[in-house]
Amino acid sequence: MKKLTVLILLMSLMSTACNKSDGSDDPGTFYDASIYGDYSEDDPVPSEALNFQSNVTFVNFTASQREKMERAIEIIKLVVATDEFKNRILNYTYDGKKQFVDNGGYTNGQIYQLILNAAETLQPSKNNIMDAEVELYYENNNVVGYTYPNTRRIWVNTKYFNSYTAAGVAHNLFHEWLHKLGFTHAVNYTSSRNSSVPYAIGNIVGDIGRNFL
Ligand SMILES: [Zn+2]
Repeated sequence: MKKLTVLILLMSLMSTACNKSDGSDDPGTFYDASIYGDYSEDDPVPSEALNFQSNVTFVNFTASQREKMERAIEIIKLVVATDEFKNRILNYTYDGKKQFVDNGGYTNGQIYQLILNAAETLQPSKNNIMDAEVELYYENNNVVGYTYPNTRRIWVNTKYFNSYTAAGVAHNLFHEWLHKLGFTHAVNYTSSRNSSVPYAIGNIVGDIGRNFL
């Protein structure tokens, strides 16, 4: 689709932690990374998924655009808390095996845990918080959004943002944020690119997110 030929999407910053709706997060209880990856479909949704939080800063948003982005972030949290999100990642298959393309050597279960850890390359604490800055801009091209490895900022094109549903925005924001965790994909389209971590899991977020519109 019109995702970027380049990197990915993004957004901006708002200085507020947009999650005060959930006062239940206790940042003291994360799994040790050494045990990640051993989830099975029979396991309950882990507490880090139920308590997944966000801290997003917004740049260059109108009030209504901010409202839409906040709704998209809320959808991401609702999606991450689902059993379906866990199981679709654990069971994701490419080329006959449970794996993602460009998986960095990680198993599906480890990728799930890395998402819950939310240790961005540039903010490497395992804080269980999706940290990002999102900036809106407009350009009349086919780039929905993008980011770069050396910045925590994600840029989102209002050409698409303004007409997307909140689930569509969530899809793209999560794609971009997965880049912040260090996951990459082919720059140019290939059929396997859709099975990369950002594309595949972004799609999963968009799919499940439609249930929360
Ligand atoms: Zn991307």
